[in-house]
Amino acid sequence: MTTNLKTFTIIPGLNMGLLAPRELGVIVAILNKYAVPMAKITPAQRLALLGLDESKYEQIKAELKPLTRPASANDLDYVHACPGSQWCKFGISDSLALGARLEQLSLAAPLPAKVKVGISGCRMSCAGPYVRDVGIFATKKGWTLVFGGNGGGNPRLGDIVAEGLSDDQVVDLVRKCLTVYQQQAKYKSRTARFMERFGIDALKAAVL
Ligand code: SF4
Repeated sequence: MTTNLKTFTIIPGLNMGLLAPRELGVIVAILNKYAVPMAKITPAQRLALLGLDESKYEQIKAELKPLTRPASANDLDYVHACPGSQWCKFGISDSLALGARLEQLSLAAPLPAKVKVGISGCRMSCAGPYVRDVGIFATKKGWTLVFGGNGGGNPRLGDIVAEGLSDDQVVDLVRKCLTVYQQQAKYKSRTARFMERFGIDALKAAVL
């Protein structure tokens, strides 16, 4: 849980933003009980409590604890997956199932900097795969893996590493790309800056 005076971000790991009605009901009841004026699901899949009275912070934290899911088993900052074939009529592949697998990806060493993942169930790319450190989208041929994107103040479109991948192949390739990034990137260098220096040809040579 983090704070910045007025905003308290809670529930790390909302399981790719999914909330069952029962969970939503519990959250709404707690927000009403503590008169939280506004809440927001952040792009990082956290629940931000806006305008919360700081004195209520510990109580609310305790009451929401049963809904808190364990953080990702690795150092990925977050995995954002679109509704995909489970819930979207345009979905070709199951982005949520793939996202759940990547949330559990375990890496041998810490990552140099934040790694954000965006997974889309079709080419429309609602989860922004081209502007995530690791971006994945589905086509009829399989998954396309994009690496080194960033949507911040110094944006960069990621590079396509490979196309037509199965679920197992894309998970394996993500692990390989992140391992190269771990081994070759400077501390605190995001994948976008790393890829500008390292280059897609060198990455492909290392992982394919
Ligand atoms: S990327 Fe495709 S499958 Fe995912 S929500 Fe958007 S339209 Fe639906």
